[in-house]
Amino acid sequence: MQADILAWAVPATFLLFGIAFAALGRFGPGLYAWSGCFSLAALAYGMTVIPAGEGAIVKPLFEDSLFLFALTGANLALASRAGRRPRYALLAGTIAASLFCAFLALFLSGSAQFEIFSIQAGCAVLMLLAAGTMAGLSKRWIDRALFWLCVLVAASLSLQNLAFLSSPLDQPMTVTNWRDSPWAFVFQLSGAVTGVLMAFTVLVAIGMDLIEHHRLSSDVDALTLVLNRRGFERRVAELRRAAHGSAPDALVLADLDFFKQINDRHGHEAGDAVICGFAALLERMVGNRGCVCRFGGEEFAVFLRACDLSEAQTLALRLQTALRAVRWPFDLAQLSVTASFGVVAVAAGERLWDAAGRADTLLYVAKSHGRDRVVGDAIASAPAIRPAARLLMG
Ligand code: GH3
Ligand code: MG
Ligand code: MG
Repeated sequence: MQADILAWAVPATFLLFGIAFAALGRFGPGLYAWSGCFSLAALAYGMTVIPAGEGAIVKPLFEDSLFLFALTGANLALASRAGRRPRYALLAGTIAASLFCAFLALFLSGSAQFEIFSIQAGCAVLMLLAAGTMAGLSKRWIDRALFWLCVLVAASLSLQNLAFLSSPLDQPMTVTNWRDSPWAFVFQLSGAVTGVLMAFTVLVAIGMDLIEHHRLSSDVDALTLVLNRRGFERRVAELRRAAHGSAPDALVLADLDFFKQINDRHGHEAGDAVICGFAALLERMVGNRGCVCRFGGEEFAVFLRACDLSEAQTLALRLQTALRAVRWPFDLAQLSVTASFGVVAVAAGERLWDAAGRADTLLYVAKSHGRDRVVGDAIASAPAIRPAARLLMG
């Protein structure tokens, strides 16, 4: 009676997970495949509870296919999470080989022992393939947990198989005998435990992915997709920590000139396109030398790691030239898009926003001298002194 309750509890639980993953499908990669995996496993476990006639071949083979396809679903789900291509040929080969062996076992000898052996071996191989999909993926503990769970399921199936094959049988193992044997109970219990563990691990993975996604998107400016102030502060702190303050850094502030006119003459959409184009230009030209932030409106900040003032000024001049040369996809009627730049060196230990204040003062100098120019801090090594501006014409 207790075994019966467990037998039905397993498919019912798996079906609930299948429905839950379908409902969560759009929140993460591979969730529809997980839904298929758990729904097929629910159906497969449900069918094992329903008795089959002596000598039946079709029903046990159908159950076997369901188990194999369920674990193929797990493979597809993990491949999708890992961003890797599923190994279709290996998956198809494993399914075909184990179903063929199961068919031969039932058809030629009528033995459920070899049928179950070949299907459990096929399932173990599928779980090893799933683990292979996750291998070396990332250092996140949740991905490592998914990897080890796949290995655990493969190991559990292999151990059951070895014990099953080596144990003496007091009567021929038919499909009916297997269903009422302790082997079926162990199969259901281990399947239930590892399946529930897997489902909860996947749910935790979705939760962690969503939190990470939220954290990343709250660091990014929605229009330009470069860092916002908060993300910039975080990223600059990371870069400075990694460098242990060994080399001086530089900061460039850039503000588009007469931007209101672009908005007024060409509309806000054109203005947005110019802001995005400038952001993309900055990101492309700064590359991995530092990071770019939309400071506000049409003003941007660039942090340059281990970069002295003259290098930073050279880069600002190149940015100025590149911006002038941009061909915008709409008619700006005589109006060329330019920007003014303030460049400072950031001393080790100096607060980022103090350096930004100095750069802003230089930017103001650039604006008041007619715009479209780069102004560098002439006394870079003494940030406490009010900057003596050095004008660099582009
Ligand atoms: P200046 O050369 O002195 O910088 O002149 P400016 O016209 O660029 O003046 P300012 O920097 O003060 O003007 C910024 C304008 O940018 C004001 C605001 O309407 C516009 N702006 C701010 N954010 C956005 C945005 O996201 N999209 C668009 N299209 N315009 C924006
Ligand atoms: Mg401006
Ligand atoms: Mg501005």
